[in-house]
Amino acid sequence: MAALFNSLCQRPTAAGEVWLVGAGPGDVELLTLKALRVLQQAEVVVYDRLVSEEILALAPPTALRIDVGKTPGRHTLPQPEINALLVTLAQGGSRVVRLKGGDPFIFGRGGEEQAALQQAGIACRVVPGITAALGCAAASGIPLTHRACAQSVRLVTGHGRDGAPDLDWRALVAERQTLVCYMGLTHCDPLAQQLMAHGMAATMPVAVVARGTRTDQQVWTCTLATLAETVRRAQPPSPSLLIIGEVVTCYRAPGVASPAQQGVVAG
Ligand code: SAH
Repeated sequence: MAALFNSLCQRPTAAGEVWLVGAGPGDVELLTLKALRVLQQAEVVVYDRLVSEEILALAPPTALRIDVGKTPGRHTLPQPEINALLVTLAQGGSRVVRLKGGDPFIFGRGGEEQAALQQAGIACRVVPGITAALGCAAASGIPLTHRACAQSVRLVTGHGRDGAPDLDWRALVAERQTLVCYMGLTHCDPLAQQLMAHGMAATMPVAVVARGTRTDQQVWTCTLATLAETVRRAQPPSPSLLIIGEVVTCYRAPGVASPAQQGVVAG
């Protein structure tokens, strides 16, 4: 691998290019045709922890695969080094695919990578992917907007710069709105407390969707008041996200015909 890496970085060819490609939430069939085509033409694939093995396997066997994966709380490669790596590879003339879970521009730091490449004068193109919110909603039958109860959706991160979420709480508790919280499990207790302190009902339905769209997807439903306890007991695996809003009442556990799910742990 080191020899291939060195030779790719030192080729005296014209500048290469970087494609920031969204790999979607996990299910390989949710990859776009464009993402597939670009991936099949890759010379180097720089990928994250969230990219499934099945998707990675679609790159040519000869492509150099570089794992810059981040596990929660442990950054394998710091972001500036990822940016520098992309620049170095492209300057060596390679066709680089930067493969990211979901969509590159939704909590994916794609904007920072794009800026670094632009600054270095390297062509950078973006292929969108299905973001986790959309994948998890579809795979659990929870419509993010619904005429009866949700006219807007907000995607937020539960992980602030210093850890705990630092959000515009007043805006988040607006009526008839669905909240989707990425990276929200670790700090789900302060998240729920803040939402309730700013006026959201303690009975507001919440779904925790773990490994959405994958064969091992699991869903738990509860309320804002019982969220922390539900997460503490269930220990949902990574990656997981939270859907908060009346739309969660549309969720039906597989094989369950109708009863309301509120407060029910449906693994
Ligand atoms: N760019 C990605 C998000 C990266 S942030 C996207 O557009 O989806 C990482 C967070 O995304 C995880 O902590 C989790 O909250 C969420 N996530 C990603 N894939 C997921 C999946 N398959 N199921 C549930 N949550 C997921």
